[in-house]
Amino acid sequence: MRSRAAVPGAARRQTAARRGADRQERTAFRRRAAARDRSVPGRGAGRLGARGDLGGRRGWYEEAMTSDATRPAPTDEVVDLCRDLLRIDTTNTGDNDTSAGERRAAEYVAEKLTEVGLAAEIHESAPGRANAVARIAGTDPGRPALLVHGHLDVVPADPDEWSVHPFSGEIRDGYLWGRGAIDMKDFDAMVLAVVRHWQRTGVRPARDIVLAYTADEEAGSDYGAHFLVERHRDLFDGCTEAIGEVGGFSYSVNDSQRLYLIETAEKGLDWLRLHAKGRPGHGSMVHDDNAVTALAEAVARVGRHRFPVVVTPTVRAFLEQVSELLGIELDPEDPETAIAKLGPIANIIGATVRNTANPTRLAAGYKDNVIPGRATATIDCRSLPGQSELLEAQLRELVGPDIAIEYIQRQPALETTFDGDLVDAMSAALRAEDPGAHPVPYMLSGGTDAKAFSKLGIRCFGFAPLRLPPDLNFSALFHGIDERVPVEGLQFGVRVLDRFLRTC
Ligand SMILES: [Zn+2]
Repeated sequence: MRSRAAVPGAARRQTAARRGADRQERTAFRRRAAARDRSVPGRGAGRLGARGDLGGRRGWYEEAMTSDATRPAPTDEVVDLCRDLLRIDTTNTGDNDTSAGERRAAEYVAEKLTEVGLAAEIHESAPGRANAVARIAGTDPGRPALLVHGHLDVVPADPDEWSVHPFSGEIRDGYLWGRGAIDMKDFDAMVLAVVRHWQRTGVRPARDIVLAYTADEEAGSDYGAHFLVERHRDLFDGCTEAIGEVGGFSYSVNDSQRLYLIETAEKGLDWLRLHAKGRPGHGSMVHDDNAVTALAEAVARVGRHRFPVVVTPTVRAFLEQVSELLGIELDPEDPETAIAKLGPIANIIGATVRNTANPTRLAAGYKDNVIPGRATATIDCRSLPGQSELLEAQLRELVGPDIAIEYIQRQPALETTFDGDLVDAMSAALRAEDPGAHPVPYMLSGGTDAKAFSKLGIRCFGFAPLRLPPDLNFSALFHGIDERVPVEGLQFGVRVLDRFLRTC
């Protein structure tokens, strides 16, 4: 054939040289991989060696993983996994008929786990409301299991308000954009990337790890975590500790130091409805028993009330460490002055020194000139650990005897201590990837699936590690417009989680 003969001598030599170089590169890769096999715990051994770390900061990932097409680097794969998940619209409207996509997302996760040999089960609580669960067998059956949980649903997003379509999964300016990018498909993808990498490379953790990808977190978890805990509690056999969302993210103190807020507590959820009753009547007449007026007065009293400051052990530990690091004066009698100096995280921390009660909905009447006999309001209350009963008493006093209080959600606050092997493993993994890391405990003002899992006696932490740029207002992105995650932050999270899950 002419084509072969037509290759000029120089080009042929070049091709041969390139083949030789490729061969050398492959040999070097195999040598590095073999060395890695000896040094990386889990390859056969399944546990860390005496060195206690994974061979230096970032070392072994960057070394060779990227050069093998059959085994993508988890730090690369996480971006694709997260983007795929963001493109599945899992908006949770709170209404089963219009909540879409959770089934598809659960199937996607199950498929990605099955593909690498991990059996995943799908548990549906109602048509379309699906949860995916899998268990990775550890090498040491004597140790209790760790639960790693992430929800698949997201809150609604209005495309008209966004710079990119909220379900496009677009990458722009170093960020991956989309509803769920930080709450919490980022973590879902990180965990998937880590365990897929493990399966491909023969790594097994010491303890069993249960992976739970849940539905319905954004509307109270009835079709997700609570359903699993109530109907399938055997899935969590042996689990004593758990990690999930809203913790492990960074807050820059300066160029070289960052706080990493690990969630060790979360406020209780006390959603209630106020009911006012009055005498119905004509809007044109004198009327002294108007339900709308009575309700409005009660709502205004609740909404304007400032509950007393109570500094819990978690908040105290947080404030002590942070004020020392930032050089802020801390007055134990007045923590709010110190909190106000924390910039973008002030509104998260500020909500954890007192109970709060925010009116969110009002309903009354059916015609402009008819005084209704009833009026209702919804109040979103959040109670500090151990304060739910007290909050109820405070509210009863505020609204007065004529307004009835009905609880529509009541889930207790959680609080655990910032100590023990698991906390040590989280801190070590963060410090290995960021020598300027200062892990600190904090209390989340919101609630998570941890509320459901803690019913099984599981000690829950928020640990979804993310290193964030100093100028990013992270807390504003939760349920916010233009939610996005830095790609480098995702990759950092994968490395931290990989270290942590191997060593915990
Ligand atoms: Zn969330």
